[in-house]
Amino acid sequence: MNSTDQFRELIEAYALGALDADERAQLEAHLAAGCAECAKALEEARWLVSQLAYTAPEAEPSEMLKGRLMKTVRAEAGAAGGGPGTGSGGAGVAGTGMQAGSAKGAIPFWMWAAVAALLLFSVYSTWNMRRMELQIREANDRAATLLAERQKMQDRLVMAKKETMIMMDPASHKIALWGEHAHPETLEAKWHAEWGLCVEGEKVPMPAKNHVLQVWFIPKGEGAKPMPSMTVTPDASGKLMLLISNPPEQMDNTKAIAITEEPMGGSGWPTMPILWSGNVT
Ligand SMILES: [Zn+2]
Repeated sequence: MNSTDQFRELIEAYALGALDADERAQLEAHLAAGCAECAKALEEARWLVSQLAYTAPEAEPSEMLKGRLMKTVRAEAGAAGGGPGTGSGGAGVAGTGMQAGSAKGAIPFWMWAAVAALLLFSVYSTWNMRRMELQIREANDRAATLLAERQKMQDRLVMAKKETMIMMDPASHKIALWGEHAHPETLEAKWHAEWGLCVEGEKVPMPAKNHVLQVWFIPKGEGAKPMPSMTVTPDASGKLMLLISNPPEQMDNTKAIAITEEPMGGSGWPTMPILWSGNVT
């Protein structure tokens, strides 16, 4: 039960493919012998390394590490080569003592392991930060959506309140909209001097595909043009409720209200026969 498993600290370097042949063979033999701790560490290291391709290109620390590593490699190579290493005196710093034991001249595994650990740490930090940024962004998006939904509900509530007020207030002017042609139903409109016009109906037939119902205000005066107003579609049960808070014309100046079926988005001029109409005054 030796707590210091010498192979454990080779795992990260191994996952990065940074071990030399001897170390690799020894570690693989150790893994084949069934060390659970190393197997688990290898799994984690491989997973982290797999994130490398995804995160490393933009991770600045890894660039810095690469530079540092290259410097060390050159220094090591210069020192190990011995003979023609007539370059700058800087090569001597890393050389002494270190490679005395082995003639491999390779970068010692502990350095690889340190670099690997640093690299993995920076990769992991970057990855973790990205994940957190993503989570924060998602949370913000969710909050924005909820806020928008709440605003919509509030708007809808205000509208419903206004609709009710207009329909209930005895001061509202009642306008019966008589159906023509294929729509003999009667819709009811109520116009309140302050709160606007509200149109209400039951069992209203659904307009054709890509079509809507559009309200028109027909002003008094000879040859006055119908003024386009809002569009609406009845719900699935045929219930229709429309609030026009700001009618395009004053009540006193309006002769009649009319409803036509128009292409989606409404028209500037009625293109279809009038389906319902009613006199205002
Ligand atoms: Zn082990």
